Amino acid sequence: MTSSRIDSIFTPGLVAAQQPQWPGGADGEQIRKAVDTLKKLPPLVFAGECDNLKARIAEAAEGRAFWLQGGDCAETFAAATADSIRNRIKTILQMAAVLQYFASMPVIKVGRMAGQFAKPRSNNDETRDGVTLPAYRGDAVNDLAFTLESRTPDPQRLVQVYNTSAATLNLVRAFTTGGFADLRQVHEWNKGFASDPRFGARYEQLANEIGRALEFMVSAGVDPEAFKTVDFYSSHEALILEYEKALTRIDSRTGLPYDVSGHFVWVGERTRQLDGAHMDFAAKIENPIGIKLGPKTTPEDALAMIAKLNPENEPGRLTFITRMGAGLIREKLPALVDAVTKSGAKVLWVCDPMHGNTYETSTGYKTRKFDDVMDEVRGFFEVHKKLGTHPGGIHIELTGDDVTECVGGGEQISEADLAGRYETACDPRLNHTQSLELAFLVAEMLRDR
Ligand code: PEP
Ligand code: MN
Repeated sequence: MTSSRIDSIFTPGLVAAQQPQWPGGADGEQIRKAVDTLKKLPPLVFAGECDNLKARIAEAAEGRAFWLQGGDCAETFAAATADSIRNRIKTILQMAAVLQYFASMPVIKVGRMAGQFAKPRSNNDETRDGVTLPAYRGDAVNDLAFTLESRTPDPQRLVQVYNTSAATLNLVRAFTTGGFADLRQVHEWNKGFASDPRFGARYEQLANEIGRALEFMVSAGVDPEAFKTVDFYSSHEALILEYEKALTRIDSRTGLPYDVSGHFVWVGERTRQLDGAHMDFAAKIENPIGIKLGPKTTPEDALAMIAKLNPENEPGRLTFITRMGAGLIREKLPALVDAVTKSGAKVLWVCDPMHGNTYETSTGYKTRKFDDVMDEVRGFFEVHKKLGTHPGGIHIELTGDDVTECVGGGEQISEADLAGRYETACDPRLNHTQSLELAFLVAEMLRDR
């Protein structure tokens, strides 16, 4: 199929929220050149992998698997280094091992990685000391530095998103199939974490339990080869539609369109207007897709989204990622889950305990409290328990490094500590230690479910 036929899949003339103001306009020469380049590049993922993921999400929606999605709020080109990628993978694998053991079910491992380069913003502009410039919209669009040159959108960056995603994905695949992800290795890392006297004691017993289970499996003759590789999927917000459409291709096996920029893409809270261009895009691609649902979402909204995105009720197609805030989750989530369950629609429910819990300190740092994050997850589990539905997974902004961006946790990071190592290009992330603590605490909830 030619690319102009692919373009014809999407409904023309719809409003696309949160798009950059490209120099020369939306039809300008610069953006057309970038899109032409992208259209000629090979897929980053194989459509068959998207189908495999969909089948696994279908299992999770039925209560037979747990979803773990994590990574940066905003990936940057500068942080696509071996160390940074390795530390993120390592963190997610460590979390997954703990969750898997205590949930007694498979964990679907998904990175906010290899494509998470574009950000929606509350304001188009940012003003500092009387100077107003375009807001930073992610490395896909412009640069974080506060100068006119840096903040001017540059469509050529979309090609760099592709190249950086390809390099990241290549290393992710190498790490997750080449021996780095061996379950015994992952367990050794977790033992190290749990033996840290500052915060580990609480988790040591849990880690020891996993160790004994591993020894038991080996003594029972379980093939250690089975420990060596893991499935790991890529995901990002489908925000910049020129990029996502340029990477939408017709799958040779099925004749159907897939967004091959990643395995799973989601539509954000700010772009999920039912009659908008992002929802039209999501409706037309075959990938498993997610929708973020904030506290203003009504049951009618949720049902209308299901009707638009999954009219055939295809298992695994749709994931609702709720981000209500710790103070609202117990009040707002029940009506949504109840209405969707009664409708018979199959969706996976995932908790994003990050985006409803952000605040700014008096010193100007955007942060989140570890306790609020945990409280929202706890509320999510309580609601699903009450309604008899599956708390299907978690969606976390995290990094594998020892940053100081969220307050609290066993290291007791204070607001005054934030200045020490605050490195995010957008929202505050849990650091390596906070991420593992969260995994152990969620594992306890899964065990006690
Ligand atoms: C995000 O996931 O970084 C994000 C912007 O989320 P939301 O759309 O839920 O605000
Ligand atoms: Mn974010």
